[in-house]
Amino acid sequence: MTFETLGLSQPVLQALELKGYGQPTPIQEQSIPYVLDGRDLLGIAQTGTGKTAAFMLPSIDRLIASDKRPKPRCCRMLVLAPTRELAGQIAESAREYGQFSHLKVVTVFGGTSVNKNRQDVARGVDILIATPGRLVDLTEQNALDLSQVEILVLDEADQMMDLGFIHALRAIVRLLPKQRQTLFFSATMPNAIKQLAGQYLTDPAQVSV
Ligand code: AMP
Repeated sequence: MTFETLGLSQPVLQALELKGYGQPTPIQEQSIPYVLDGRDLLGIAQTGTGKTAAFMLPSIDRLIASDKRPKPRCCRMLVLAPTRELAGQIAESAREYGQFSHLKVVTVFGGTSVNKNRQDVARGVDILIATPGRLVDLTEQNALDLSQVEILVLDEADQMMDLGFIHALRAIVRLLPKQRQTLFFSATMPNAIKQLAGQYLTDPAQVSV
């Protein structure tokens, strides 16, 4: 199996060639076709399996394919991550994988300047990567419009629950369009995650490695 046979388009394939990835990892092989198809997805995968590319590559592909004019100022894809470190890593990957597209990636997380976050978002963003707490702060200040989000990703959902982000998460999801694609990734599948998935995902494809 190659990235090309999985159905990814040229700008993404070019970025992968530059990264030097030879073959998709198992989680990528399983996830990419579903995401390209527009399906919701529940993925059980640990860090290190290539899960970031599993959701980011096909999402970028879909955003390129359905590029809207005029673009919403914010934002077409929202990725929620439990920690600053993870949010930063996802953003770095998104920039690399999307380097042959016009998609703009912005990160917002706690411990940085809220004013800087506001300015970054106001300049326009396609892919917003955030920790839940800071995102809620920004929405409460009316600094963000989440009504145009097409793809929601919840990364490390189990960690998110462990860190007590459930209320923030619920507050964020309430601001999103009901009509959207939702992708959940978690290393484990406790009941709390199953319940959450039942509420937020529609007929999800399930993959695990
Ligand atoms: P992740 O599980 O998303 O944290 O990714 C773990 C590491 O694997 C990252 O450093 C990626 O750059 C790398 N990686 C992801 N997909 C591939 C691939 N298909 N081939 C080689 N390396 C990859």
